Amino acid sequence: MEINGEKIALKKGSFKGGVHPEEWKYLTEDKAFEILPKPKEIILPLTQHLGRQAKPVVKKKDKVKIGQLVAESDGFISAPIHSPVCGTIKDITNTSSAYGIPQKSIIITAEEGEENQFLEPLDPSTMSSEEIIERVKQAGIVGMGGAAFPTYVKLTPPQDKKIDMLIINACECEPYLTRDYRILMEYPEGFLQGVKLLMKALKVEKGIIGIEDNKIKAAELIGKYLKNEKSLKIALLKTKYPQGAEKMLIYATTRRQVPPGKLPLDVGVVVQNVGTAFSVYQAVVEGKPQIEAYLTVSGLGIENPKNLIVKIGTPIKDILDYCGGIKDDAVKIIVGGPMMGTPIYDLKTPIMKATSGIVVLSKDEVVEKNIQNCVRCGKCIEICPLNLLPTKLARLVQFKRYEEALKSGIMNCMECGTCCYNCPSNVPIVHWIRIGKTRIKQLKLS
Ligand code: SF4
Ligand code: SF4
Repeated sequence: MEINGEKIALKKGSFKGGVHPEEWKYLTEDKAFEILPKPKEIILPLTQHLGRQAKPVVKKKDKVKIGQLVAESDGFISAPIHSPVCGTIKDITNTSSAYGIPQKSIIITAEEGEENQFLEPLDPSTMSSEEIIERVKQAGIVGMGGAAFPTYVKLTPPQDKKIDMLIINACECEPYLTRDYRILMEYPEGFLQGVKLLMKALKVEKGIIGIEDNKIKAAELIGKYLKNEKSLKIALLKTKYPQGAEKMLIYATTRRQVPPGKLPLDVGVVVQNVGTAFSVYQAVVEGKPQIEAYLTVSGLGIENPKNLIVKIGTPIKDILDYCGGIKDDAVKIIVGGPMMGTPIYDLKTPIMKATSGIVVLSKDEVVEKNIQNCVRCGKCIEICPLNLLPTKLARLVQFKRYEEALKSGIMNCMECGTCCYNCPSNVPIVHWIRIGKTRIKQLKLS
């Protein structure tokens, strides 16, 4: 096949380990984005990002417009939050999070009107690196690959780290999710402008868009736009989970290996996601802060799977209702993908900036397996992409041997769930690893 005007070699990039879960992309991959009508009430948690909670700059009964700042960032690793609707501040109080932990939130009663208070649109061709980074910061953009790390922080690496390459994660390796694929298919020009803005912000001359080979149509479409492009290339990768994990993606596209405990910037790379690049374009060219989430609603447990553009703060129930509601045999609702997402139990939980999908699983999609004792088959070790010993880590945590778990690399685990997926005994390995990491932090062992 031909991409970027070049014949693409049949040998595709990949990494050691990983698994091939059923994809289920067919449920939504051909469905264009629909705009969800605004809800009656918006719930904006003040922590929609990694780092410090944002500080409210509004109070009860204040009137707000679309795009108006309602909470400012508080410190270096933080992000501001903007209103996605015209309305009135109803309250600033604790609400329920996807994790069941109360979170301080601004609640807005939505009202008629489309008046906005966006940022001033800017001309990308005349902007300096610093101006792009400042705009990304003002717009409250966070990474949409899952971690919700404030994007401007990733664009300002320490001075002693020489970055020479941007890699765009277009793998979308989680089953069911087609949000990134639809952005590539429907907004290729905006996406590519966002990628170029990110490259300019980082002052790098090289960019790679890593995309799995189950998204050939998107690779071909983007490739047409890049025909005469020297600095930006597509790398076609094998479809395998977790191909989109940063370390796997960097290795598959560049053969650079991020050592344990190190970051992509230690090998000269910054990784950004498709949705993040598109948000950067919107923030610069349209002056639009991050007030919407582009997401997939899928699974056999929802009546009408769709791709939607949703105002952040919309309760999940409104979204499920718009998709025809959940079916009688639905057994599990997950925010994010089924491999790394979070099951939710309260449908009032709001959509956050980095929400990529809602998956409603029916009983046919959930394999009920009893948890049994580890049979020492070693399958989890064979497929761990980071060469960890998952069974050993889980056992060390069960026996509260945290220092040994630390020495065995538990903090390097990216919680991808590949080991659990492959375990015949259904040992909840990631559950134990998460407990171990939390205890190690609490005990200040790391
Ligand atoms: S140990 Fe961690 S990194 Fe390795 S497969 Fe399991 S969850 Fe993924
Ligand atoms: S895959 Fe499961 S049963 Fe096999 S060694 Fe790992 S934890 Fe034990």
